[in-house]
Amino acid sequence: MSTQLSRTDAEIEALPAEDLLVWAAEEFGDKLCLSCSWQKQSSVLVHMASELELDVDVVELDTHLFFKETYETRERLVARYGLSLIQPEIITIAEQHRREGPNLWESNPDRCCHIRKVEPLIETLHPYDAWVSGIRRDQSPSRANARKVERSERYGVWKIQPLADWSEADVWAYIMANDIPYNPLHDDGYRSIGCMPCTRPTRPDEEERAGRWAGSDKLECGIHLGEERNA
Ligand code: SF4
Repeated sequence: MSTQLSRTDAEIEALPAEDLLVWAAEEFGDKLCLSCSWQKQSSVLVHMASELELDVDVVELDTHLFFKETYETRERLVARYGLSLIQPEIITIAEQHRREGPNLWESNPDRCCHIRKVEPLIETLHPYDAWVSGIRRDQSPSRANARKVERSERYGVWKIQPLADWSEADVWAYIMANDIPYNPLHDDGYRSIGCMPCTRPTRPDEEERAGRWAGSDKLECGIHLGEERNA
């Protein structure tokens, strides 16, 4: 895989989300995938890729601990857009209990995220050169410096982040304008949605991701942390 891109960082930063997705599809061909956690950003990216008629593999990182509303959202998006999901293998919750002790998300959430998210993602990204995700700079301080394209040595891929400069309002405007199915938990105060044990609703005066691992200083599951450098 090339570690050089056909465009500079400045050129890439100037691209709107749609143009960035088209460029990524041309740049990486069938070595490009899109990961979905069935939050509002997933709704935007799945719709956008469909509208652009991009044949991009869609990866679902299902921890087996999502809310039922999240699984229902997945089914609605799969049906509407004809998605064929790539679903990494992951150990069962029962097996995790046996190996690591009960409720690892309470005793060691970093380890739990590593087993249920990071390790499966590393395995899944192995055949790919580039990975599209929906992270946005204004979601949390830990994402404030995200570039639209970053190199990840940890995963051995380019990270493509078409919504990096979108606001939460931009996301909702796009969803409403295009009548896209979205996770109904967002309407119940869950501005960011992950696994059931580690997600609570947020108040309007809180940061968007304040309901994730609330009560701890953990901000990220770990899949977006690492050693990225700018393109
Ligand atoms: S978000 Fe919570 S339950 Fe989900 S993998 Fe991480 S620690 Fe485990």
